[in-house]
Amino acid sequence: MRYISTRGKAPALNFEDTMLTGLARDGGLYVPETIPTLSTDQIAAMAGQSYEDIAFTVMYPFIGDTFTEDEFRTLISNAYANFGHTARAPLVQLAPNHFLLELFHGPTLAFKDFAMQLIGQMFQKALGRKGERVTIVGATSGDTGSAAIEAFRGLDNVDVFILYPHGRVSEVQRRQMTTPTESNVHALAVDGDFDDCQARLKDMFNDFEFRDGVRLAGVNSINWGRVLAQVVYYFSAAVSLGAPAREVSFTVPTGNFGDIFAGYIAKRMGLPIRDLVVATNQNDILDRCLKGQGYHKGSVHPSISPSMDIQVSSNFERALFDAYDRDGNAVAQLMAELGQGGFDVSQGAMQALQAIYTSGRASEEETSAMITRALNTTGELLCPHSAIGVKVAEEQRGGTTPMITLATAHPAKFPDAVEAATGIRPPLPARMADLFEREERLTRVANDLEALKAHITGALNT
Ligand SMILES: *Cc1c(COP(=O)(O)O)cnc(C)c1O
Repeated sequence: MRYISTRGKAPALNFEDTMLTGLARDGGLYVPETIPTLSTDQIAAMAGQSYEDIAFTVMYPFIGDTFTEDEFRTLISNAYANFGHTARAPLVQLAPNHFLLELFHGPTLAFKDFAMQLIGQMFQKALGRKGERVTIVGATSGDTGSAAIEAFRGLDNVDVFILYPHGRVSEVQRRQMTTPTESNVHALAVDGDFDDCQARLKDMFNDFEFRDGVRLAGVNSINWGRVLAQVVYYFSAAVSLGAPAREVSFTVPTGNFGDIFAGYIAKRMGLPIRDLVVATNQNDILDRCLKGQGYHKGSVHPSISPSMDIQVSSNFERALFDAYDRDGNAVAQLMAELGQGGFDVSQGAMQALQAIYTSGRASEEETSAMITRALNTTGELLCPHSAIGVKVAEEQRGGTTPMITLATAHPAKFPDAVEAATGIRPPLPARMADLFEREERLTRVANDLEALKAHITGALNT
C-alpha cells in the first residue's frame, strides 16, 4: 500500500512514513494510491462483532507491512481499552429511522479520541523499534489538542506541543490541555483564531530546516492515520442497522472535513452509503461551496460550536483531489488561489462532489433550539456540534433509508451552551469529575512563526 500526495510532487510513502510525516513535503496531503475494497461477505460478517474486530478488518488492508496482524490487533485493543462504553461507538434511536452515533465515550469526550488513541499507540510502536524521537505539533480548535495530549502524555519517544486560540476554547477543553502534569506535554495559547494556529502549523512544516531539526510530526486531521481510524465507525454503525443488505445515510457535523471524508472512504471500500451530509455552523464555507458558490474565505465568526469554527477546511483538499480526477497540478493551483482568498470549482469537479456530498447549515439560534427540542422530544442532551448534525439531518432525511447522525462530543464538554438552551448543566462523567480542581500549566505565545519556533526549540532543550 503506497500513499501519494494531493499535490503530486512529494515522494510516495508507505503507511508508516505517511503516518509519521503528516503533511507531505509539497504542502499536499497523503491519500492511498488505491482504495482497498471489502466484499459483501466480509461486511456481512461484521454483524455482531466487537468494535475492535471490525476495526481490524477495516484498517488492516491500509497498513501494508508496517505492523503484523498480531501487533495491529494489540494496538487496537490498547487504544480503546480506556473508553467509558464497551460498545465504543453505541447507536441510540432519536426518531423513526433517525439514529445518533455516540462518539464521545473516549477519554476526552469527543470523537477525536477514536483516532488519536490509536495514533498514540502506533507512534509509540513504530518509534520505539526505530529508537527515534519526534516532536508533535498540533493546532486545535479545542478537541484535537486535548485528544492528542491525552494520547501522547508520558510517552517516551514524543514531545507534544499544542497550539490553541487563546480565549476561544471552552473551559473543559482548555483544562484537558493544561492540567496534565507530564513534562512532555506543552499547551501553547496563541493570540489569534484557529485558522491562525493552523496557518502557523503549516508554516512550521514548510520550514524544512526547523521541520528536520526538531523532527516535526503532525497529528492534525490531515494525518492519514487519523482519517483511517475514523472509517471504522461508519462500518460498525451501518452494519448494526442491516448493511450491507440495507443502505444507510450519514450526517456529519463538519469543520476540517476529516470525519466526513472517512465516511467517503467507507463508501469507496464498499459500504452501501446513500447520502453523506455535511453539516456546518454559521461558518459555512463548505455548505456554500457544495451549493455551487465557490470556495471563498470569509472571517471566522466564533460560535457555540467552536470545534467547527473554521474557514479553511484542510481535508477538503483530499475531496478536491478525487473530484479533479487526482490531478495534483490542478489541486496545487486551487490551493495557490486559496492563498489569495478563494477559488471556483470547475463544473466537472462540482458534479463529482455533489454526487457524493450534500450539505446544510445551522445558525446559532437554530443550534440552541435544536438542543432544547431534542431534550424535549427524546430526552437526549446534545452538545452544540451534534445538535447541528441532528438539525441538518432532520431536513435532509427521507424515504426508508436510515439516517445516522454523528454525535461528535459529550454535552459536558460544552456545558454553557447546553445550560443556556435547556437549563440543565450536564455533569462531567465521574472519571474526570476533578478537572476543575487540577492546576493549569500553559504558555501564551504571539501569532508569529519565529516566536513559536523559538519557544519550541527552547522547551526541547531544557
Ligand atoms: C473536530 C470536531 C468536529 C469537526 O470534525 P472535522 O473532522 O474537523 O470535520 C465536529 N465536532 C466536534 C465536537 C469536533 O471536535
